[in-house]
Amino acid sequence: LMQLFRPLDMLGWVYRTIRQGLIDMADMFRLMDEQEEVKDVPGAPALIVRQPSIMFDNVRFGYDPERDILKGLSFEAPAGSHVAIVGPSGAGKSTIARLLFRFYDPQGGRILIDGQDISQVAQTSLREAIGIVPQDSVLFNETIGYNIAYGRGGATTEEIHDAAQRAAILPFIERLPDGFDTEVGERGLKLSGGEKQRVAIARTLVKNPPIMLFDEATSALDSRTEQDILETLHAVGQDRTTLAIAHRLSTIADADTILVLDHGTLVESGSHRELLAKRGLYAEMWARQQSEAEEVAA
Ligand code: ATP
Repeated sequence: LMQLFRPLDMLGWVYRTIRQGLIDMADMFRLMDEQEEVKDVPGAPALIVRQPSIMFDNVRFGYDPERDILKGLSFEAPAGSHVAIVGPSGAGKSTIARLLFRFYDPQGGRILIDGQDISQVAQTSLREAIGIVPQDSVLFNETIGYNIAYGRGGATTEEIHDAAQRAAILPFIERLPDGFDTEVGERGLKLSGGEKQRVAIARTLVKNPPIMLFDEATSALDSRTEQDILETLHAVGQDRTTLAIAHRLSTIADADTILVLDHGTLVESGSHRELLAKRGLYAEMWARQQSEAEEVAA
């Protein structure tokens, strides 16, 4: 009977996932085997990532031809760096993530990973190289162990355990009566937003990708959860290149480089301190968020 319900579960999941904006696209493609917008060029070689650098070279993109969303965007994330993308709503932040994952191809310019044009390599290899922690992580009505192992078929118990530890969710799991065998989701244990996100981080860690894309939740997390997730990301960001799309500037103040995007154009970039000193859009956004935080605290 369970086998019968699984496709229904899946449909619900696909629907909820699509609604969230940046979806866990690799999973979607794997599950649905649907027609993709972009196709591999014949005989496309695999992406080989030795130094996971990311480069956007004058990238121009619009969902429809009349309206450019990214207007010649250039930036570089050196291998091992932590880069954050901030900017007003609709600036094009999530679009950058979708292009990096090659959900679409740019209409102009190139996107390179370790010097290789991502439009010229096999998509499966590209998607294996990038782990995504989406805004609102979706868990299956399955055990916690299954949800973590889902990052990579054939993960061993040890790997699952190790990923949970690095994602700082292990103590929580070990306190559950059935541990990793505890069912989660509608029929089982309900997890908080922060716990769900940590399961998603563990899932990505099992995959062990050289590049990690983190789409910060827009919804407010309590500051404790936010702090926990921050620390977790710090730990998992070691030895890999991370790109974080951030809404709360406080979560990315220690990024190596912060890219400030406005209307599809890079208007400022630099470290938190450099950007504050510029007294531009970033400084303005920072001041606004600080005073909002003070209001909440008052
Ligand atoms: P937010 O902070 O609100 O998440 P964002 O900076 O991530 O915003 P994007 O999601 O990249 O912004 O969207 C940039 C623009 O592209 C917006 O004007 C949006 O309406 C438009 N857009 C996004 N996705 C699509 C789509 N699938 N088809 C058409 N237009 C889209």
